[in-house]
Amino acid sequence: MPIDPTLPYDDHNVFAKILRGEIPNRTVYEDEWALAFHDINPQAPTHVLVIPKGPYVSWDDFSAGASAEEIAGFVRAVGHVARSLGLVEPGYRLLANIGQHGHQEVPHLHVHLFGGKPLGPMLARFD
Ligand code: AMP
Repeated sequence: MPIDPTLPYDDHNVFAKILRGEIPNRTVYEDEWALAFHDINPQAPTHVLVIPKGPYVSWDDFSAGASAEEIAGFVRAVGHVARSLGLVEPGYRLLANIGQHGHQEVPHLHVHLFGGKPLGPMLARFD
């Protein structure tokens, strides 16, 4: 079920638990600002999630409320993960779902990083 993006940050969400080490993950990269790990239900040969360490519900929340350091650290971590996985050539896709129409399911900001095969057009037709 998509989340309600107007709710405050919920410390019991699954990615908060991963950040606290309460449930396992397959870590790809970690630094002061971000954690990257394999998606549990991969939609492409490479499907990694990158999350900020801070308590942000979504991209909307993060872009409005995070510090410049947090934003720079997170964006650099996403780029670093893609490079370290060898995805820059031949290319990859970033995706962040936000709220109901975005079909966001976990209420902690995450960027999906997809690669490892040609990914096709961006979205299905909308008509
Ligand atoms: P979204 O629809 O953008 O909120 O995507 C949530 C993603 O989190 C989905 O791709 C899930 O497969 C993934 N996911 C949920 N729980 C876990 C978990 N424990 N470890 C790794 N990925 C997870």
